Amino acid sequence: MKAKADYPNINPAEPQGLKPDGKPFGVLIVDDSMFIAKQVSQILSSSGFRIVATASNGQEALKQYQSHKDSIDLVTMDITMPGMDGLTALEHLIKMDPDAKVIMISAVGKDDLVKKALLTGAKNYIIKPLDRKKVLERVVQTLKQ
Ligand SMILES: [Mg+2]
Repeated sequence: MKAKADYPNINPAEPQGLKPDGKPFGVLIVDDSMFIAKQVSQILSSSGFRIVATASNGQEALKQYQSHKDSIDLVTMDITMPGMDGLTALEHLIKMDPDAKVIMISAVGKDDLVKKALLTGAKNYIIKPLDRKKVLERVVQTLKQ
């Protein structure tokens, strides 16, 4: 049987979800669409990230952020949600933690809302439909900021 070392070039990249100390980055996923939340979750967890919690509206997101603050390194935030929307949740979240790293997830054609989110303190954004490469790129970029 061949050992792992016999295939050094198959997957040379380190999982992007791991910190230099080998521990995973923790993520809070906020989206009212279970489909999108699952997609984000699959993309990130397959790259080594840890999904700390999910929320389907702004209120829930704030609650989850408060209770898991120490283990959340990144938040993906949908914009359009019933109840408290993503922009309002972002405003509260930034007040609560000015250093919070939030990536907005938006449908196409919502440029004004995305702009507003970036001015409010979101670090980055992703436009749906989600593409694995694009999601990982933006997430890694954001964690480096
Ligand atoms: Mg939505």
